[in-house]
Amino acid sequence: MSVEPGRIQAPDGTFKRLLWAQMIASKQTVSTYTVVFIDGDSADLELTEAQAEGFECLTCKAECGTGLGAFQPAGRINGFSSVFRCVACSGGDV
Ligand SMILES: [Zn+2]
Repeated sequence: MSVEPGRIQAPDGTFKRLLWAQMIASKQTVSTYTVVFIDGDSADLELTEAQAEGFECLTCKAECGTGLGAFQPAGRINGFSSVFRCVACSGGDV
């Protein structure tokens, strides 16, 4: 019976989720951002830092997921970042 070579411990998923949750929690400061949507319209929106940095859906604040929770680009905050909506909020089909 062979000895299994020493494996690099995979990052602990629970720990990573905890770090992620802490990161999101630290980005809940609401400010007004000028969002330029992909259709060219722009609007001043009150967004959390997490939304403005593309970590949360622009509309429902859900984090990026799969299926209806998957993110689609919604627009840009000039000189800052891209913003996203989940498929459900975009009214799109999966
Ligand atoms: Zn959404």
